[in-house]
Amino acid sequence: MSDEDLPQLIECGDHGMAPWCLCCTHLMMHETNKAVAIPNPHIKEVDYDWVCSDCFEVMQKDGAEALMEDNLLACVCINCMNHILETCEKDLPE
Ligand SMILES: [Zn+2]
Ligand SMILES: [Zn+2]
Repeated sequence: MSDEDLPQLIECGDHGMAPWCLCCTHLMMHETNKAVAIPNPHIKEVDYDWVCSDCFEVMQKDGAEALMEDNLLACVCINCMNHILETCEKDLPE
């Protein structure tokens, strides 16, 4: 699937149609508050995808596909993401 095939908006139950990013389920479930930013090349309005530090290590080692295969990445609307990030320690790239 090429980037052009990705929808720019998803429908969120709380926020309606909204741009989205990828987020690991650990951050989503508030199992950890260490959020690592991954530059997001797919969606115009969105700068980063977010994963926890454990998932970031897996990603560095085996690539994002490894997380996808284990169903650890979900599409999250950016409003929900901002809500999650309010309680997170953010690790942004230089
Ligand atoms: Zn994670
Ligand atoms: Zn939302």
